Amino acid sequence: MNPDGGLYIHVPFCHAKCEYCDFYSITLLDQIEDFVEALLREIELRAADFREVTFTTVFFGGGTPSLLSAAQLRRIWEALQANFRIDPQGEFSIESNPGTLDLPKLQAFREAGFNRLSMGVQSFNPQELKFLGRIHSVAEVYNSFENARMAGFSNINIDLMTAFPGITRETFRHSLEAALALESEHISCYTLIFEPGTVFYKRMLRGELSPLGEDEEALYYELAAEVLAKHGYRQYEISNFARGDHVCRHNLIYWKHRPYLGLGPSAHSFWQNTRFGNKRSLSAYVRHLKKGELAEDFRETLSQDDLMFEYIFLSLRLREDWIWRIFKPASGSRFTPAIRQRSSGCWRII
Ligand code: SF4
Repeated sequence: MNPDGGLYIHVPFCHAKCEYCDFYSITLLDQIEDFVEALLREIELRAADFREVTFTTVFFGGGTPSLLSAAQLRRIWEALQANFRIDPQGEFSIESNPGTLDLPKLQAFREAGFNRLSMGVQSFNPQELKFLGRIHSVAEVYNSFENARMAGFSNINIDLMTAFPGITRETFRHSLEAALALESEHISCYTLIFEPGTVFYKRMLRGELSPLGEDEEALYYELAAEVLAKHGYRQYEISNFARGDHVCRHNLIYWKHRPYLGLGPSAHSFWQNTRFGNKRSLSAYVRHLKKGELAEDFRETLSQDDLMFEYIFLSLRLREDWIWRIFKPASGSRFTPAIRQRSSGCWRII
């Protein structure tokens, strides 16, 4: 049987760089066409190594993939279909910034095959959006969401940010309630992290911004879990809440240590106990692919101990019990018998 896996496409463009963000993205939008050409080449070069895998999810992330035109998305999608085995019943997601969406674009996403939309909302408070450097307004979130429903999206995620300087329990509760009123199928709540290299990190070093303490951060998670649970959202992962069975199947592939292929600059992959990643530079990525070679930055083979350790810490993100029956054949580890479930329901390492 073919192993199942996830396919990730990193689109490294944004209208403006949010000051907290350390994902690889640039604002030189005139380079989008070069990126698309290089990506099409990478798809062809990677195809042979992933022939065995059935991709059950495809995720366009970034960056802001919603900056691509309908024609560019179609070209990429056709190349993926021609070169990889993609499950027609799969989950096909695209991340978007509400400031880049309109009804024709959303209709084009649906026509291209996307069946899940993720919206980077972050907050429903105008002052907080300004503080975070977002390009969209609260009104644009409502418009985009309504347009997404009109275009036929029945599986929508809203990303919210928590625990950043200036947020209060009241403003966060307001954002949660606004997201709930939209009845999205999925809500993610991420804590702000001051990542080295970001503008926020430099401002923190200058003493202009202070991260919240861990206990305070935890209060926001507890608030999210409490409010969302009351409205029927299940917290299936640390930061992720779903109604019904609308979990993010793509992210579960990462957390369950399944194979994934990442395409585009800075994208990472995991396959046959090997992790590899592309260069974090669009110009280097394009240069290599123009010469017909992959733009890999690193490649490492994981030992059995590495695999076991990763499996454990990824499993700890998930609410479901450790799947140690799967763990045993997957890693051949002697570790399995050393895990016991306590009467309280917690798992204990002995
Ligand atoms: S829009 Fe998203 S990817 Fe782009 S800079 Fe902001 S947070 Fe980062």
